[in-house]
Amino acid sequence: MSAALPGFMQDWPLTLDRVLEHAARWHGTREIVSREADGSLARSSYAAVYRRARQFSNALRAGGIAPGDRIATLAMNGTRHVEAWFGIMGIGAVCHTVNPRLFDEQLVYMINHAADRWLLADAMFAPLVARILPQCPQVERVVWLGADLPPSAAPAAVVDFDSLVEAYPAECRWGDFDEQSAAGLCYTSGTTGEPKGVLYSHRSNLLHTLFMTQSDVLGVRASDVLLPVVPMFHANGWGVAFAAPLVGAKLVLPGARLDGASLFELLESEGVTFSAAVPTVWQALLDFLTREHKRVTTLERVVIGGAACPEALMRAFREQQGVEVVHAWGMTEMSPLGTISNPNGAVAQLEGEAQLQYRLSQGRVPFGVDMRIVDDTGALQPHDGSASGHLQVRGGAVVRRYFRASADAVDADGFFDTGDIASIDAAGFMRIVDRAKDLVKSGGEWISSVELEGLAAGHPAAMYAAVIAARDRKWGERPLLIVKLRPGMAATREEFLAFLKGRVADWWLPDDVLIVEEMPLGATGKLDKKRLRALYGDHLLRAGSAGPSPCSS
Ligand code: AMP
Repeated sequence: MSAALPGFMQDWPLTLDRVLEHAARWHGTREIVSREADGSLARSSYAAVYRRARQFSNALRAGGIAPGDRIATLAMNGTRHVEAWFGIMGIGAVCHTVNPRLFDEQLVYMINHAADRWLLADAMFAPLVARILPQCPQVERVVWLGADLPPSAAPAAVVDFDSLVEAYPAECRWGDFDEQSAAGLCYTSGTTGEPKGVLYSHRSNLLHTLFMTQSDVLGVRASDVLLPVVPMFHANGWGVAFAAPLVGAKLVLPGARLDGASLFELLESEGVTFSAAVPTVWQALLDFLTREHKRVTTLERVVIGGAACPEALMRAFREQQGVEVVHAWGMTEMSPLGTISNPNGAVAQLEGEAQLQYRLSQGRVPFGVDMRIVDDTGALQPHDGSASGHLQVRGGAVVRRYFRASADAVDADGFFDTGDIASIDAAGFMRIVDRAKDLVKSGGEWISSVELEGLAAGHPAAMYAAVIAARDRKWGERPLLIVKLRPGMAATREEFLAFLKGRVADWWLPDDVLIVEEMPLGATGKLDKKRLRALYGDHLLRAGSAGPSPCSS
């Protein structure tokens, strides 16, 4: 590489401590509101959070924590969790967010693989911590993120966050390390093989925050009130806990109460303008609003992502609640934002239904992300809206190599394969056809489980709709629709099939419909396809169905 002329501008490493420092200095009185374990609301400010985060940094240093050491958090969204994040990252240690909804063996694997030295946990997870701790010998200390120790906490090396923080001064030197240093660690849920750790750097997280706050992406402003329902342990909490202090927005943290009634109360009492969650959470809120004849009054925009947004959900929010729905796609490996369905120049000219079809797509890449689709041989596929292929991505906040892996996870062009199958249209809008492993392969043809689910979720009686590839003697796999009904509603198998008929080719129609009492949801609130396949994958073999011909349409 030839030596270019160096610029003469100041050195300003992209480290995350700057985000909270900025918020404390310029938005110091802006509130952070947090739902406590007892249901009450605790109020703080960026200035106070900054002070307590630095006190916590001093506690970490006094406990021998050095840059690069991993600290695990097992906690819902709350102010102490935010203080812990910045306190850990500010001194160059690494915040490992652990998902408490995972199985014990997965948690033990992740905590040991990460070699976490401290474990910070909400008191509600005391029984979980008691179960896993004996299997995690390198954890030296447990800190409860509450005002008191839970009754079951063992006395040795166990403290509560508030007492610890209050024991240390607030003067503390933050930053002063390379912007490429690791800041956060998050393991993918491990749908195939062992969970894999994504090690975010200060630079990648700060760039991601700048990418996502662009006006055409999340477009959050200082005047916004943000309520991230998406937990801070799901793919970096979608970056909301960084975006809010970066722009100086008020932050409202819902703790463990994520039911429709509690969320509605918080949205209204705190004047929330912007929120983010997976579709199942929004479905539950919408269900509550419809049942109770309520309307949200301050909420302007919601981001729905993590799984495909059913058309019915987007319509209901827009038409019944007057809330704009922004559909986003991403993954843990992308920090997580990949695409967002805000209109661009060409699409903004379209009206009504025509524009809605773009808003329902997974969207287009913002500055900072690049994507392409390729076939099985790696050949590039056209952006014509109909060709589909393996979706690959690269960018400033996309994984290069998993934690402790011996080889990079990207190809020679620097692209990472997402495991999703997608198409891209001429306007640049991407549509997920399916997770490669969730596609139903019927007699050699592909059927999109995502598309069928989106349609079935539009039936008025459906609360959740899942489609899995069920094994079939004749066609290899056939679609099976599994539905959980809304409380107090009734619908039969035949009604669901009649509802879908005409909306998809006949050979796409599910071979059977199961109405279930409980829909298994995964650790991040998405439909748990793995569990559904284990439960019902053989249903058609048992029922002896042959299914319609894949060529009968
Ligand atoms: P995770 O890393 O657990 O968030 O999972 C990422 C995966 O979730 C992606 O690779 C997609 O398969 C799926 N996903 C995320 N957002 C969407 C979306 N808007 N539509 C369809 N699938 C999505």
